[in-house]
Amino acid sequence: METEATTARGWREWHDAEQPLRIGVSACLLGQEVRFDGGHKRDRFVTDILGPFVEWVPVCPEVEVGMPIPRPSIRMVSSELGERLVCPKSGEDFTEAMQAYSLQKIEQLKLLGLDGYVFKRGSPSCGMERIPVYRNGTPLHKNGRGLYAGILQDQMTSLPVEEEGRLNDPPLRENFIERVLCNNRWRVARKRGLSRGRLVQFHQAHKLLLRTHDEGGYRRLGTLVGSAGTIPDEELYERYGEEFQSCLRIKPTVKRHTNVLQHAMGYFKNLLDSQEKRELLTSIEDYRLGLIPLIVPLTLLRFNMRRHKVEYLLDQIYFDPHPKELMLRNHC
Ligand code: SF4
Repeated sequence: METEATTARGWREWHDAEQPLRIGVSACLLGQEVRFDGGHKRDRFVTDILGPFVEWVPVCPEVEVGMPIPRPSIRMVSSELGERLVCPKSGEDFTEAMQAYSLQKIEQLKLLGLDGYVFKRGSPSCGMERIPVYRNGTPLHKNGRGLYAGILQDQMTSLPVEEEGRLNDPPLRENFIERVLCNNRWRVARKRGLSRGRLVQFHQAHKLLLRTHDEGGYRRLGTLVGSAGTIPDEELYERYGEEFQSCLRIKPTVKRHTNVLQHAMGYFKNLLDSQEKRELLTSIEDYRLGLIPLIVPLTLLRFNMRRHKVEYLLDQIYFDPHPKELMLRNHC
């Protein structure tokens, strides 16, 4: 059984109870009754599973821009002036007000330091994508973005964002939470105060995780860390943070996970007998073929890492990246 002591090197070492995951969220997903009909859209994954680990920053752009509760519904409308946020009942156009509000709000959010954002799907204000756009009262297409959500995504390009509906998809959920946790670790590292040595440790701890996202990005980060001393430290940290986030934007694949698992297996060349090696190889191959979830070869590797005290692997966030209560890696 895993104990706190045996896993303390994973995500725990790099997080800080004083700096919890800070995630922006459409306020109605938390159960706040701010919707046009006076109701809410409480999402159980958001509140019950993610909630205990998160300091939410709830935002209802429609209420904050001055709309009442309840209120007539609004929609995105295509016109000669471009896409507008309009109340079809009254004809009132909220586009300029929402744009001005969004820019101001986003500046506040940048100062706050968010690790991610969960939007309410389908909303003409908060929806991330696939928002219906109307012309002359009839649907024209479904490729719109909510006005506030679109501006936020354009202004905070490296912020991990998702919609509550997409978080029901295990790979999307896994990727979103992993990026949120990575952002938080970087934010905590910066807050605690970086040094060149600490940057090397941070990079070392994330090596295998980064390789599941983007080998090229992982190598560029390694080169950057190796150039410490040739560029000013603050510039080094800024560039590392940007490259780190852009590397994480690329989604992990089964092939890259398999490569990383096989690489990790190389550390047991002289430590396992032939039957143990066969067992490990079979679980990696079964994962590659989609027969078992990632958690199976990972658990086997973790067991052997601890048994044989393989220090390099024990330091890798990849093997203990998030609280197990989030139940990630069980389905993909
Ligand atoms: S979707 Fe956004 S704008 Fe609409 S009620 Fe929820 S938080 Fe408010």
